[in-house]
Amino acid sequence: MGESSVFHRDFNAVLPMVVAVDGNYLIDDSGRRYLDACGGAAVSCLGHDHPKVREAIKAQVDRLAFVHTGSFTNAPAEELAAHLVACAPEGTGAGRVMFLGSGSEAMEAALKLARQYCIEKGEPERQQIIARKPSYHGNTLGALATGGHAGRRAPFAPLLIEVNHIDAPYPYRLQGQDESEADFAERMALLLDAEIGRLGPETVMAFVAEPVVGASLGTQPAPKGYWPRVREICDRHGVLLIADEVMSGMGRTGTTYALEQEGIAADLTTMAKGLGAGYQPIAAVLAAQKVVDVIKAGSGKLWNGHTYMSHAIATAGALAVQQVIEEENLLDNVVRRGAQLEAALRDTFAQHANVGDMRGRGLFWTVELVADRKSKAPFDSSSGIAMNIGSAAKARGVMTYPSPGCIDGVNGDHVLLAPSYTSTEAEIYDIVETLAAAVQDVLAG
Ligand code: PMP
Repeated sequence: MGESSVFHRDFNAVLPMVVAVDGNYLIDDSGRRYLDACGGAAVSCLGHDHPKVREAIKAQVDRLAFVHTGSFTNAPAEELAAHLVACAPEGTGAGRVMFLGSGSEAMEAALKLARQYCIEKGEPERQQIIARKPSYHGNTLGALATGGHAGRRAPFAPLLIEVNHIDAPYPYRLQGQDESEADFAERMALLLDAEIGRLGPETVMAFVAEPVVGASLGTQPAPKGYWPRVREICDRHGVLLIADEVMSGMGRTGTTYALEQEGIAADLTTMAKGLGAGYQPIAAVLAAQKVVDVIKAGSGKLWNGHTYMSHAIATAGALAVQQVIEEENLLDNVVRRGAQLEAALRDTFAQHANVGDMRGRGLFWTVELVADRKSKAPFDSSSGIAMNIGSAAKARGVMTYPSPGCIDGVNGDHVLLAPSYTSTEAEIYDIVETLAAAVQDVLAG
């Protein structure tokens, strides 16, 4: 092939062309097979060729592709929304779902819904957003501004709206040696209380956070007790809680929504990756009844909208994905294989001189690499350690999601794993063995 006309992330890279799929494997045009241990970016949770999802999409193509939401609704969108509300964390109530095309779009929509809620409630002075660092909420300008990802923000800084950031709980580097998990959770949650106080509670619109941090920090759950305390603080100050479950949601951590495991519900929840599992580009915002009621009693109108909302083929594909997860009891497999993945990672890397931390939940795990295990010093940000490990694993036939970290000197290089919910025992061992070999390739070389 000559020079590509596609905007690749790396203009100089010559990328393999994937021409076929086989379960959790991708096959390129030279016949090479890659075991997909990351689903792209925690997207492909049902492998690449699930027959039921394929059939549902084909059937919908023959029925109806698109109608505009200003004039019509369609059956798969209605059914999928009802399903997402029905399995939402207790406390969500009779919510409503807005379907969009990407995680970033869902984050923008959540922020706008939060703003609309405040205005319709008679509190227009609420416009401040509090988010966390590190975090990643997407690449459109509002989502990028909300994210606490220094590297991604830097070139666009002059274009970003002002967002206030507090530290995300990151036990490996932020928890005191003698600090209990409960004390750490409390200290981290109180950062929110202090920030709301600093800004003036009557000016704060929303707190935005990932229930299990994804792309920026690497699969970091919060310490036990953090989320209930955050919920209490938000409620006390009349601040909306926006849970970004774009990566952590739809079963990735062992429950449909990661927040379920914390015993609280958010006011607005975004989801994307595992929603369509890559078979269709789709994202959603779930608004809890509290938000819906205020808007219904106010203008009764949505002050935001996109052309492709509730796209019938996209929602039909996502509906089939969610039905397969349920019918095949795949959340059980996430828990079982997740435990196996954790055990294999700990067995393999527990004593490794350059592995500082392993963290995660369900089939969502990260290995953080450090230059010095004792001091926890990260590798120099220019070292490319994680990216090189990712390349070495790819050369060995396993796809991982490496990241150079996002804030120099805070969190360093790490490799994220997000295997398919259909993973077999043999595939999980293959992933960990190959990662170990790739780490060896890079650090010994
Ligand atoms: N939020 C989170 C937590 C994400 O992980 C991502 C994507 N990595 C996004 C938002 C943005 O999603 P998208 O790339 O589909 O716009």
